[in-house]
Amino acid sequence: MTDDSVHEQSMVSPLGDYQLIDRCRGCGDDMANPIPVLAMDPMPLAGNFCVSEKAARNAPRYPLTWLQCPHCGLLQVAEDIAQRSLFERYHYASSSVPPLVQHFRDYAAKLTNRHGASSTIRLLEIGCNDGVLLNQLPKSWTLMGVDPCDVASRHSVNSTTYQLTPAPFTPELVESLNWTESWDIITGSNCLAHISDLKAVFFGVTMALKPDGWFWVEVHDLNALLRGSQWDTIYHEHKVEWNIDSLTHCLHKLGFELREQQHLPLHGGLLRCGFRKSGNKRYIPETPSRNRRALNTLRQAYINRNRSATAVELKQAQSEGLRIAAYGASGRAVVYLNQLLDLSFSFIVDESPLRKDHFIPGVGTPIVDRDELFANLPAKILITAWNYREHIINRNRKFPGNWLTAFPTA
Ligand SMILES: [Zn+2]
Repeated sequence: MTDDSVHEQSMVSPLGDYQLIDRCRGCGDDMANPIPVLAMDPMPLAGNFCVSEKAARNAPRYPLTWLQCPHCGLLQVAEDIAQRSLFERYHYASSSVPPLVQHFRDYAAKLTNRHGASSTIRLLEIGCNDGVLLNQLPKSWTLMGVDPCDVASRHSVNSTTYQLTPAPFTPELVESLNWTESWDIITGSNCLAHISDLKAVFFGVTMALKPDGWFWVEVHDLNALLRGSQWDTIYHEHKVEWNIDSLTHCLHKLGFELREQQHLPLHGGLLRCGFRKSGNKRYIPETPSRNRRALNTLRQAYINRNRSATAVELKQAQSEGLRIAAYGASGRAVVYLNQLLDLSFSFIVDESPLRKDHFIPGVGTPIVDRDELFANLPAKILITAWNYREHIINRNRKFPGNWLTAFPTA
C-alpha cells in the first residue's frame, strides 16, 4: 500500500470529536493570544492500537498544534480530544515495563524514607494505573488509587494493598466522598499530562490535603524534551508539557510551596517535585520567552525529520530491498511512524503482551513479540522506545543487524 492510499483511507476527524482550548489547562487564564510553537501533520491518537490492519489504516486522524500559554509558559496541545476517545482502551500497564517497576520501587523507598512508615499516613494516588507505586508502599499506610482507566479496574480487583476509586479526580469527587482535608500525601506520576482541566485537579488536591500535606508529582520535563528536540513525545494524549517554572506558577498561586525537586532520566527526562500545602498564595511571574530558542530548534528538527541521518539510513536500506523494523510500540513510535510515511517497517517488536497482535494506528504496522524478530531478521532496527535503548539492546544481544535511534537529536 502506498503512502497516498494511507492518506485516502484515513480521514481527518471532523471537529466534533475534539475542541480547541480557549483557556490554559494549567493556570486557567485565557488563551486568546497563545504563542504558536509547532503544527504537526494530522495523526491518529498515539494510544489507539488497533486489532486489525484495516482498522489501523482507517483510524481517524486529528490535527496536532502545540501552543504555549503566555501567562504561565505551559506548553499544550490545542486540540482537546474527548476523554472517552483517549482512554477507553488504554493499552498501558506500567508493571509490564521492568525499568518502570524499578523506578517506582525507588520512588516508594524515597516516599517511605521521607514520610516514615507510620501507620497513620493516608496517601492517595491520582492515576494509579495498575498499582505499580501503591503496591510498593508500606502495608501499614492507608492507600487509595483514583483512576478511571480499564487497566486500573482490572488490577485492583484482587488487591489487598489499596482501594480504587474508578473515576476522574475532581473537586466534586473530593466533596462527594468527604475527602476534604483528609489525606497526608497525594501523588500523581505521569498523569498530569493526560488531564484536560488541570486547574480543577490542583484545586481538588488543595481541598483533599490536610494542612501541611504533601503533593508529589512526576511529570515529563519540557527542558529534557527540548534538549533532545524530542518532537516524538508530542501527541494528543500528552495534553501538556511542564517545566519547573510553569508547575510552580500554577501551584504557588494555590498555596503550595516547592520543597524538593529531582531530575531523573526516565521517559527521556522526568521532573519529580514535592510541594507542601502551606496556604501562602504567591504569584510567580513566568517568562515564556526563555524557551524560544530551544522551541525554534525543536521546530527545525521536526521540519527536517526526513533528512535526519537516521531517516536517510533507513530509506537507503529500504531502497536496497532490505527489511527494516522498529522496537518499542510506545506512543513515540506511533508519532514517528506516522510523521515519516516514506518509511515502511515490516513489523514493530513490543514486550508488552497487551500490545501484541495489535497494529500501529495510521500506518498499520503489525506489533509482534521478540520471537518474530529472530524468525524474520531485519537488517536494521529503529529503537522507537529509545529511552529504553540499553535495556532493549541488552535483551537482544544475539541480533546481528544494526540498531538505530532517531532521538535525542543533536
Ligand atoms: Zn497558563
